[in-house]
Amino acid sequence: MLIKLIHPAMPRRPMDSIFKTRMSPPLALYTLVALTPEEHQTVVEDENVRPLRPDAPADLVGITATVNNIDRAVCIAAEYRRRGIPVVAGGVHISAVPDRYTAAFDALCIGPAERVWTQILSDAENGTLRKIYCDMDNFSGSEIVAPAYERIPDRDYLYTNIMITSKGCPFKCGFCYNSCPGVIRNHITRSMEDILSDIERIQSNHIMFVDDNFIGDIGHTRRLLPELKARNIRWNAAVSANICEHEDLLALMAECGCRSLFIGFESINQQSLRGAGKFQNHVDDYNKLLDMLNALGIMVNASIVFGLDEDDVSTFDNTLDWLVQNRVASATAHILTPYPGTRLYRKMESGGSIINFDYSRYTTSTVVFTPAKMTADELFDGYMQFYRKFYSFKNIWKRMPKSGNQVIPFLMFNLLYRKFGKAASALARVMPLASLGRFAARVSYKATFAKC
Ligand code: SF4
Repeated sequence: MLIKLIHPAMPRRPMDSIFKTRMSPPLALYTLVALTPEEHQTVVEDENVRPLRPDAPADLVGITATVNNIDRAVCIAAEYRRRGIPVVAGGVHISAVPDRYTAAFDALCIGPAERVWTQILSDAENGTLRKIYCDMDNFSGSEIVAPAYERIPDRDYLYTNIMITSKGCPFKCGFCYNSCPGVIRNHITRSMEDILSDIERIQSNHIMFVDDNFIGDIGHTRRLLPELKARNIRWNAAVSANICEHEDLLALMAECGCRSLFIGFESINQQSLRGAGKFQNHVDDYNKLLDMLNALGIMVNASIVFGLDEDDVSTFDNTLDWLVQNRVASATAHILTPYPGTRLYRKMESGGSIINFDYSRYTTSTVVFTPAKMTADELFDGYMQFYRKFYSFKNIWKRMPKSGNQVIPFLMFNLLYRKFGKAASALARVMPLASLGRFAARVSYKATFAKC
């Protein structure tokens, strides 16, 4: 069979450039490529990179979807099904709320594809596709299959040096997909051998770990760090804010090549955090954590959520002041968004506070619910103002890192990605995106790439 694997176009937020939608390849699709037996052929089409080719031949289509591109995925499926080509859908949104999509696709893959993909292919070949494929009981980290890295077109993405060491998260924050019943329940870690093999295949000494939570199993992280150090890897990852309870781990991470961390602070109001089911965060520890990170030379990208239960119009400037005072290198702000299937969605739906069910607007830049302590307009305006103020020249200057070797990566992110991202991304028309990514890593971290 000729199997076409599709990543539908993702809507962008007002402040995003194409760097956002072409930051990294859809690893899930390249995992399907790796899972596909040799007798079949696979083609990956990413609509965020170039238009789809619905008239090109295919025997089966696989689509991966998140909440904000699910409507586009449904349209694409209709187009192929009209041509008599069966369509299988998977991805986090399908796994979270499969019942809503049984009519839109011929088959649904819920949870990881590793155990079911070959069965889907043989059923598609025999014309006996079932509606639901799901086999994830006791799914273990050793079953995670690495993406077909050699098939990823370098020139199409800013970073292709991405990989995971684990899946899931031990926490279940109410607004996160990890609180959905349909996703892997436990945090699982890959074998050291598989992780090191991926690092080998990526051929770079700069790696972006895209785990939900890189410290989901601290023992596992501790075992991995010396391996990264031995290979002279510079790396970035996302971690939960409870890392401040593990000072020695932070020091080891810095020693073993950690250059920046994405941290889910979300709010500086403890009551709001409690309302969001984010119990592992303790606001009183935040400053201590940022002091430790600044001292260790690890840059921080702070994740912030606006619109939580206790947030009012004063929250935006209070949060801004706190981030600027602590010289936080970058911030990614979100308007609270009830992703279908999450605990937050169930709570808001039963309370009747969701006002917009157009999922293409679930980008975390649209207010889709009635906030508790401000109007929807105040929430949206406050969020937009926050971005403008945080990335103003004045505040970029105030947040400038004290450590000299952080200045270049700090300026690259704040100026070329955030402040002038739209202009900078015009470069993608004249040079491959991966070259830009490698250039950024080289000047920021003195990282080198064999693929250059
Ligand atoms: S800590 Fe982060 S990844 Fe884990 S459940 Fe909470 S939001 Fe999700």
